[in-house]
Amino acid sequence: MESYTVAVTVAEKKLEKMELPLKKPVGTEVLIKVDSVALCTLEQRVYTGVMKYWPFASGHEFSGVVVEVGPDVTSIKANDKVAARALTQCGNCHYCRSGMENLCVSGFQASTHEGLNGPGGLAEYVIFQEQAVYKMSDDVDLGHAALVEPLACCIHSIGQAKIELANDVVVMGAGIMGIFHTQLAKLKGARVIVTELNPDRLEIAKKVGADVLIDSGKTDPVEKIKELTDGRGADVVICTVPAAAAAEEAIAMAGKKARVVLYTSFHPKKPSPTIPLDLNQVHYSEVEITGSVNPKVVDFYTASRLLSHKILDPSAVITEEVPFSNLEYAFERSLDPASYRIMVKF
Ligand SMILES: [Zn+2]
Ligand SMILES: [Zn+2]
Repeated sequence: MESYTVAVTVAEKKLEKMELPLKKPVGTEVLIKVDSVALCTLEQRVYTGVMKYWPFASGHEFSGVVVEVGPDVTSIKANDKVAARALTQCGNCHYCRSGMENLCVSGFQASTHEGLNGPGGLAEYVIFQEQAVYKMSDDVDLGHAALVEPLACCIHSIGQAKIELANDVVVMGAGIMGIFHTQLAKLKGARVIVTELNPDRLEIAKKVGADVLIDSGKTDPVEKIKELTDGRGADVVICTVPAAAAAEEAIAMAGKKARVVLYTSFHPKKPSPTIPLDLNQVHYSEVEITGSVNPKVVDFYTASRLLSHKILDPSAVITEEVPFSNLEYAFERSLDPASYRIMVKF
């Protein structure tokens, strides 16, 4: 029987390549030859041992080409370019049945390869159910298609922000998530103000369309936002910086009726980070403070369409392409805070 290679994180900074038998897709299964895999925070945390989920088959941001489909598959065929939603929900809990599957009680889990925990995109081949596979356009760049998942996370967050035309939207932080939020807020017709400490990242924010850049190392962002909005404060603030002090600033720079989206989780997780909150500011301004966690099916579908039809160009967040044969280097490179996404290519 033919076999294929899967990359498995087996211990701290230790990767192994395993051989597994290649199966034929049955029923509604789709067999995909993987082309591109982006290394996200989950992959990095398991690799560095922050999350000791070993042995773990990494890779939840990936794309590929369909090799073969099971007899019951109707929407996808061989040679289609696809992305897949590897982290799925239970479908049965209160939240799943109420159209809030991003809040599923069993969390987002996956075991793509037999006997291995993890989403498993870092493999020559993967099999997914048709339902989890999203067809991309024939002319899409497969490196771009691998970014459907992180873009979908930001699309969910942009929905939480309820942006209206000409809103003043502040994006705090210009990492990959800040860059995607900037691009999406521009598509929504906002004036986008980006705050960031790193001048190189501010340059990238400018390149993808940010209207105003604030170097938060040199300028007090709260004062500057007030100045830019005639003292009102922003209509929307999206915080992608995982520090409690940033969340405090986000609320301080929000105007009346503003939406503050805490997109990131905050670290360290224990003890849980806290900030003082002016209850009268909430009362008198009707500010909405919310979070954003995981993409819904609709967010994933929207992301696949934005990238397929080139409505959003993600090339600014791809730092380097690395061949699968050089996987250790790719992981090490992804840990460099100066890099955005490192794309592993098969
Ligand atoms: Zn559920
Ligand atoms: Zn991701």
